Amino acid sequence: MAKNQKKLFDANPTPWELDDIGQQRVATVVISSGPEGQYDYVVPERLISKVEPGRRVRVPFGRGNRPTIGYCVQVENRQVETQRLKEIRSVIDSRTLLFPSMLQLTRWMADYYLCNWGTALEAAVPSAVRGQAGTREVTLLSVPTNVSARLTQLKLPRKQAHALRCLAASAKPMTPPQLANAAECTQGPISALRKKELIQAEIHRTHTAHSSEPVAQRTAQLNLNSDQRAALDVILEKLRRRQHAGILIHGVTGSGKTEVYIRAIEEVVSYGRQAIVLVPEISLTPQTQQRFQNRFDQVAVLHSHMTEAERHWHWARIAEGHVQVVVGARSAVFAPTKHLGLIVLDEEHDASFKQDSMPRYHARKVALRRAEMENVPVVLGSATPSLETWQLAAEERFELLTMPRRVLDRPLPTVGTIDLRTEARDRHSRGALGRQLHQAVQTALDNDGQVILLLNRRGFSTHIQCNACGDAVRCPECDIALTHHRQDDKAICHYCDYLINAPRECPSCNSPGIRYSGLGTQKLEAEVRSRFPDVSCLRMDSDTMKSPGSHEAALEKFRNGDVKILLGTQMIAKGLDFPNVTLVGVVNADTALHFPDFRAAERTFQLVTQVAGRTGRGEKEGLVLVQTFTPDHPAIQAAIGHNYNKFAAYELPVRRQYGYPPWQSMIRLVVRGELETYVGSFASRLAELLLAAQDAEGAATRLLGPTAAPIAKIRGKFRYHILLLGPDQDTLRGLINSATKNLKSPAGVQWIVDVDPLDML
Ligand code: ADP
Ligand code: ZN
Ligand code: ZN
Repeated sequence: MAKNQKKLFDANPTPWELDDIGQQRVATVVISSGPEGQYDYVVPERLISKVEPGRRVRVPFGRGNRPTIGYCVQVENRQVETQRLKEIRSVIDSRTLLFPSMLQLTRWMADYYLCNWGTALEAAVPSAVRGQAGTREVTLLSVPTNVSARLTQLKLPRKQAHALRCLAASAKPMTPPQLANAAECTQGPISALRKKELIQAEIHRTHTAHSSEPVAQRTAQLNLNSDQRAALDVILEKLRRRQHAGILIHGVTGSGKTEVYIRAIEEVVSYGRQAIVLVPEISLTPQTQQRFQNRFDQVAVLHSHMTEAERHWHWARIAEGHVQVVVGARSAVFAPTKHLGLIVLDEEHDASFKQDSMPRYHARKVALRRAEMENVPVVLGSATPSLETWQLAAEERFELLTMPRRVLDRPLPTVGTIDLRTEARDRHSRGALGRQLHQAVQTALDNDGQVILLLNRRGFSTHIQCNACGDAVRCPECDIALTHHRQDDKAICHYCDYLINAPRECPSCNSPGIRYSGLGTQKLEAEVRSRFPDVSCLRMDSDTMKSPGSHEAALEKFRNGDVKILLGTQMIAKGLDFPNVTLVGVVNADTALHFPDFRAAERTFQLVTQVAGRTGRGEKEGLVLVQTFTPDHPAIQAAIGHNYNKFAAYELPVRRQYGYPPWQSMIRLVVRGELETYVGSFASRLAELLLAAQDAEGAATRLLGPTAAPIAKIRGKFRYHILLLGPDQDTLRGLINSATKNLKSPAGVQWIVDVDPLDML
């Protein structure tokens, strides 16, 4: 009777009451890299205080009781047949890695992105944290209070008594060597005291490496202009309501969006809350860090050039609540801020926010979900918003704020096109730079300005072809033409790094008539150096920027004027703010326009607009020249007019006509394997199952494919894909779930699901 009452009225019995009522402490565990599912384990008495949701545990798993790591996601007291449940062996983490809200977020990710919960959990905790990088275990000794109360009454050998007094007198716990040092004794007396339980020992993890905080100078607040003020007021109003809201700032390059973010974050910090600022990896320059460090005392930066130990240290600072602002790339959306107040996503259209391996999440989507769960606003900013976001604003699910002018009434640069069709006929303009672009570079240099030249292809020649048989030299492993890299005279595959000596004759027919053509950044660099021999020039692409720090070093040389011409791939198109750049040349705007990707026009528009935004940011006016074979293409026309609305007005109806995002939701399935027939037939099987499920459910979905993917082979694996389109993701996911339940691919064939895909190749 008494037992029953207790159970009724005490929903949450404290651990020592468990035996009274025949209940057990049971932890639910998700295996991090193993089969899908949740598994219950009994928490043994000795671990009861340590097993908590959000910590990792070691458990025996499967028939063989293989020691396995899993995340504890729930703990409860429950009546169980103890014999049926195995016991947790040990607890790995001394602190919680994921708050309950983050557990919930990862559960949502697993559902939305169709991956295992364990995979989502692993994505949310940096590997540096999981590996406890840069920390070691230390034993900390202290005197229990009941012992210190009767210190004088204890009868102890002289050395032990002295050691105990030393420790009791210390304000902080000590490690055994520290105590031995303080008490001038060996470990002997200390061990004796521990055996007698007069000293208690606890094991802690401490960080051995610290990343020092850069010393920042405080900078004064700027006076906001009216557009900035208006945008900030709307954000402040949302913040004060303490509700979730989505806000899109559509502001041209240099309109002062970052200043608006900073002011909004000041408000958040004044509530004792934290902000997360997500930026594309490539924009995470020291300049960006500095802007935040100049304005806030406690900034944590998370980026890929850090050592694991540094990353862990920053993460721990955030988890302990010592940080006001987290600035980081995609994965910083999982930063363990305790009291989140705001998430900002700058350059929200940037493709680097989408992860291209499991789980294939988009940081914008995750940020919105997290902000919704934690009831805080999200601010997205871009000069060229993704059409997905734009459409949400049009449907008034986002509040749209517009900043159409640059700060300090600086004009937007003049943009002109150069028609390569007519330039090509001009015999004097052989090479990458046409006559007009050459002259413009000369004029800019004469007037002491700096120049940026964008070419979105690395290497020297992008095409090696035989004049006799017409074969292009391709990678045997990938369906990709090899690119000639002249530095060490190699032909390289840009997908798998397959590498051969640059051929002098055709590998197929041995004809010597082999032709190297197509323009890459290396060839552009050679041309610029020969045209402007006395001018310092620097190439920035993933070949020259391999070593850590090289990116920053290159930008610093450009900033201080040592380098006059900066040329490179899209790496140079984003976020850079150099006041002295007066000319931007786009060497070939069409490189991305003819990709077999429904976003080709959008990508082209974004790239040209973004790189154009790199000029005219200082006192001097800027000029942008865009070389193109298709000057009349609406994407290029809109970009040269700085006219996003015009671009959206052109592109949205096209997307609607074909039923592509943002009008319809999309999931891409990719099947790959070494034997093409297996890949093809499994892709067909998958399509049949999807069609059957579609019919059974009467779903308003469409299936495109299966077909060979545009890149039909990578690293020796053939690739087929299927596109699934429909009114919303719920419908699509439902279809995939019911069609592929219990589906096993044949040996040697893998398949992946990409929800909201960005990569269509
Ligand atoms: P965006 O992020 O929109 O490209 P930024 O916030 O980087 O623009 O601002 C561009 C430049 O203008 C920066 O150097 C910034 O310090 C400066 N700036 C921003 N707001 C103001 C202002 N109200 N008055 C003067 N300068 C400003
Ligand atoms: Zn040949
Ligand atoms: Zn290859």
